[in-house]
Order: sequence, then C-alpha cells, then structure tokens
Amino acid sequence: STGDMKILLLENVNATAVDIFREQGYQVEFLKSSLPEEELIEKIKDVHAVGIRSKTRLTANILKHAKNLVCIGCFCIGTNQVDLTYATNAGIAVFNSPFSNSRSVAELIIGEIITLARQVGDRSIELHTGTWNKVSNKCWEVRGKTLGIIGYGHIGSQLSVLAEAMGLHVLYYDTVTIMGLGTARQVPTLDELLNNSDFITCHVPATPETKNMLSAPQFAAMKEGAYVLNASRGTVVDIPALIQAFKAGKIAGAALDVYPSEPGKNGAGVFNNDLNPWASELTSLPNIILTPHIGGSTEEAQSAIGVEVATSLTKYINEGTSVGSVNFPEVSLRSLDYDEENTVRVLYIHHNVPGVLKTVNNVLSNHNIEKQFSDSKDGVAYLMADICDVNQSDIKDVYDQLNQTDAKISIRLLY
Ligand code: NAD
Repeated sequence: STGDMKILLLENVNATAVDIFREQGYQVEFLKSSLPEEELIEKIKDVHAVGIRSKTRLTANILKHAKNLVCIGCFCIGTNQVDLTYATNAGIAVFNSPFSNSRSVAELIIGEIITLARQVGDRSIELHTGTWNKVSNKCWEVRGKTLGIIGYGHIGSQLSVLAEAMGLHVLYYDTVTIMGLGTARQVPTLDELLNNSDFITCHVPATPETKNMLSAPQFAAMKEGAYVLNASRGTVVDIPALIQAFKAGKIAGAALDVYPSEPGKNGAGVFNNDLNPWASELTSLPNIILTPHIGGSTEEAQSAIGVEVATSLTKYINEGTSVGSVNFPEVSLRSLDYDEENTVRVLYIHHNVPGVLKTVNNVLSNHNIEKQFSDSKDGVAYLMADICDVNQSDIKDVYDQLNQTDAKISIRLLY
C-alpha cells in the first residue's frame, strides 16, 4: 500500500516534490545534502524510491545494495550521475525533468540579445571600475532585426514568440520540419540562416552532428557584425573559431552560457585555462557575455522540476506508467480502478528474449486479461496487464509463477 512506500530525498530537492509525496501518504526522508557512499548504501537498502540532483552519484556499487528500489528521480536535467545500464538491468526506472526550464532559458536569451545590441555588459563593467563612457556608436535597437534560431524545440519555439513580440523577424533551422509560430519562417539550410540573421542563437542538443556546428566556415557565412548566442551545450560552438571571428571584426559580440568543459563547483578561479585553454583570451574581449550555465537556473524552474519529477515517480509507483522515463520503454494503460473488486495490475520487467510473452500469458490467461501493453528498449522489456477475477490466493500464485520465469528482472503487482 502507499503508506509502506519509502522515499529518500537527497540534495534539498524542491519542496513541491516533498508535498506531492506526502500527499500520497509515502514515508518521506528528506535530506538537505548528498550522502557519503557508505551512508547512502545503508539508507538505500530499504527504500523504494530515491530522489537526487546532480551531485549524488548512483553507481553500480551503490545500486547493487538497493534491493527494493523501484525508481530513481533526478530532480535536474542530466542523468549522467546514474549508472543507467545497471539501473535498467536491475529493473529500476529513471526519470528526469528535461523541459521544466525551457521558459527560463528563452527569457535569458531575450535579455542577452538586447544586452549585446546595446553593449550593456561593457558599460556596466566600466562604471563598476569607475569609468563613465557614454556611447551610441554601434549600439542598436532590436526592432526590425532578424533572429536566427538553430533548433526549434521547446526553447527555440518559446524564444520565437517572445522575440516577435519585440519586433524581431524570426528565421529558424531544424532537421525536422516544424510549423513556425507567428510569422517565424523555417529555412532549408543552416547557411541560409547564417547569411540572413543579425542574431544567431543555438538551441540544439549535444550530438555528433551538432559538435562544432558553428565553426570557422559558419562564422564566415554570417553577416558582418552579427551576434552569436549559445545556451545549449558547450560542444555546439567552436570557441577558438568564435574568438578569431570576433578579432577579425566578423561578429560584434557573443553570449555564452555553456562551455566544452565546466567546473564542478562554484568559486573564484574555477573557470580557467586548465579547463578551457582559450579562457584568458576570451575573457579579455569586449561585448562577450559569459555566464556560468545559468540558463535554466530560476526559482520557477526549480519548483517546476519538483512537480514534474515527483508526478512521474508517483505515477510510476502507483500505476506503473513509465512515460517520460529515460531508460525504460514507455508503457502506460488507463488508470487501474482500485475499487473494482479482484482486479490486479501486473508489472513485469524482463529481458527481451524470444518466448517470454508466451510463458507470461500462459500464467495470466487463467484470468480475464482486461488490457495489456508491452514495449522494449535496449534489451529490456516491460509488460503491463490488468487481470480481473483474481482472489487473494491467486495473487500469490501469479506472483510465484512469474517469479520463476527465466527472463524476469522484476515484478510488481498492484491491487
Ligand atoms: P528540444 O529537444 O526540445 O529541441 C531541440 C531541437 O533541435 C529539436 O527541434 C531538434 O529537432 C533540433 N535538432 C536536433 N539536432 C539538430 C541538428 N543537427 N540541426 C538542427 N536542429 C537539430 O531541446 P530544448 O529543450 O529546446 O533544449 C535545447 C538545448 O538547450 C539542449 O542542448 C539542452 O541541453 C539545452 N539547455 C540548456 C540549459 C541551460 O541552462 N543553459 C537549460 C535547458 C536546456
């Protein structure tokens, strides 16, 4: 029952999540920090779910002690801190929150477009160091200029709407054909976007195709005096090529939020030449806004992450729905009616080998199978079935029979 569910929350995950779990009646242990490995191993032994942010590393060595663990919630975007292969093969579903901060990133870009066009960063640095420098040369309004968006997904499309409201024309380039919002227009090639945009902003994922997507030839294809923004991933823009383009007068400024290599902690001096060899050259240039990967860092995004991940975990715990999981096939059936007498939902996670469904359906078919759904991903498959006319002793029977199947990874029965 939900009152037996134990959840361990580390790293001060947002209060919105704690509220959602408590409302469900789960037993919640909430810690403000991460835990040393030994303590984490002790605590993870008997919990059913664990919520972390980016500092806690859930390695195979830790996860092998987590005998009751059903799911992991990463209350952040990335999931690199979890050994996903181990989790998958142990039947543990992992969830994250990829889109809760899209709006925050789009708003930052809007702010930076104006900041670059008006050289606000430089004027502010000058006055902070005591110099009054009132200039209008090469300072522009954004109205009537063209914004080129590379990647028209969650962030790119939000940005498109905000930019048009300020009187910018919007062009976008994406590998997928997407209908433009407002009067935004998709262009067939990256070059067409580069040739025609005053501001160029990247909102693509880090993939082999997007590595150094803006490099020397792309800077060469830009309009004289264009501005370049990147708050996507540090691999997308070739920074030495950007420095060259700036020195040659090709681009008039840039805003970077992400870097090929980012420090793991806050503090003076952590962003340096050891990490990124061009750092001192970049920091010496004017009208280059550098921010420490804060695109998605807002209070609103944090609470949205809490709601999104806690809701995914709750749905998975209560109903088995794996939609939004990063490592599991996405399986869902309409809600189980717990009031319906003698109905049981079978959640069977197994190795994807031939003949499994035959064996499993042999077990289930002694009952009326009301609905059933199954899918696989990377060698692991997940079957969800609602069976009715099942009494208490049948439940144990079904469980025992499924438990004996060779391909089994894990089983849960909800009733
Ligand atoms: P998304 O998946 O919603 O959209 C990405 C878009 O890029 C898709 O439309 C996709 O078709 C397109 N795309 C993929 N490969 C492409 C290619 N080679 N050429 C052209 N288009 C391509 O992603 P999103 O949520 O909008 O996020 C975009 C980027 O922003 C991601 O890299 C994400 O990690 C990053 N991000 C950064 C921060 C931050 O704090 N700076 C916060 C959130 C997201």
